[in-house]
Amino acid sequence: FQTDDDYAGLKQERSRYIGANLSISYKKPLKIVRGALQYLYDDQGNTYIDCVNNVSHAGHCHPSVVMAMQRQLAKLNTNTRYLHDSLIEYGKMITSTLPSKLKVCYFTNSGSEANDLAIRISRFFTGQKDVIVLDHAYHGTSTVAMELSPYKFDGPGGAGQQSYIHKGMNPDLYRGNYRYDDENAGKKYAESIASTIDSLAEKGTGIAAFICETLLGVGGQIPLPEGYLKEVYQLVRNAGGLCIADEVQVGFGRVGEKFWGFELQDVEPDIVVLGKPIGNGHPLAAVVVTEEIAKAFNNGMEYFNTYGGNPVSMETGIAVMRVIQEEKLQQRALETGNYLLEKLKDLMKRHKIIGDVRGKGLFVGVELIKDRNTLSPAVPEINEIVEQMKDRGFLISTDGPLHNVLKIKPPMLFNIENAISFVSHLDEVLTGYY
Ligand code: PMP
Repeated sequence: FQTDDDYAGLKQERSRYIGANLSISYKKPLKIVRGALQYLYDDQGNTYIDCVNNVSHAGHCHPSVVMAMQRQLAKLNTNTRYLHDSLIEYGKMITSTLPSKLKVCYFTNSGSEANDLAIRISRFFTGQKDVIVLDHAYHGTSTVAMELSPYKFDGPGGAGQQSYIHKGMNPDLYRGNYRYDDENAGKKYAESIASTIDSLAEKGTGIAAFICETLLGVGGQIPLPEGYLKEVYQLVRNAGGLCIADEVQVGFGRVGEKFWGFELQDVEPDIVVLGKPIGNGHPLAAVVVTEEIAKAFNNGMEYFNTYGGNPVSMETGIAVMRVIQEEKLQQRALETGNYLLEKLKDLMKRHKIIGDVRGKGLFVGVELIKDRNTLSPAVPEINEIVEQMKDRGFLISTDGPLHNVLKIKPPMLFNIENAISFVSHLDEVLTGYY
């Protein structure tokens, strides 16, 4: 492994040209020079198992995806004002995986842009401006998406909460107001949304939308409590608002049991936002809405997006979908994810530092604590553990409002052997703690 100052010159040069807000992972940074499926390679010849990059869904540089991109790039890449078969084929492909009412696609280049558009559509459709979000959520980096993201607006450098944005409780069954032992927790967390809607109604304010991830990522890798979205979506619709599912991190089979996260809650959103895994690293994202919403949004103002829906992006999206289907990635996420969750729960019995293991499929969180009574977050510890795992060849990172949750959401080709060696190394690393 490299020494501390191997990259001193590179870091110095980077700091001259690149905004310092883009931090670098790890005390001794990695210079990754190549990727293949679930593996990454650095410039020193070391191999790492990527346990965290959910963007490289089909695996880093999956040959079928790369070839599809190369083929189209050498043929044509232009904007979307011409007829092009792959635009339609991809629209059909995506909507065929969604509930039948979700029919119309708008393509963008990032999840932030897609969430921004979803909010614009919901505001136009409802004639309202106010939006309900979940506490600690992150929905992106555009100005509108930042306004939807307590993780950003409440954090350092944040602009604070706008008057038209309202926070619902983070439905965290481990450390929130209602916990695993409360079988009505889903309903009770939904009541926090009901009271927000009621207090707005008292002031004569309606809502444009409720937006949340269908398994909370930045919020702490938190699966939603049973029955939660069913209650909330009903409340939001009764108040005239639209229900937006942010599937940017969760979608495309990662949760194993289902293809989309909202299916775990047995609900149908009015708008679905897709990103990250959709293009396996190529900048592609999408907003999918009902025909009724699309018709209303066709309001005389053109929706034009220079790169959104270009032929290379569409061929990339098609290739990713084919790999997901042909290589049965959803099934693999289910099997490997269940195995991993079970083994991590075994570790929890032996290592007191693990307070909670949760997740679905290959979207897993391990919450580290100093004490099982106070649940005090094990923050310096988690940072050391991430570094030690990196030195052993496993790339993971941290998440959650208290920065004490190990997030594990590898490329979907992460397999049982990878899971076995990951858990065994984590076991050894944790042995140094309480
Ligand atoms: N929504 C969620 C849930 C996300 O996690 C992210 C990115 N981390 C975004 C939206 C924004 O996506 P992008 O970075 O592609 O703009």
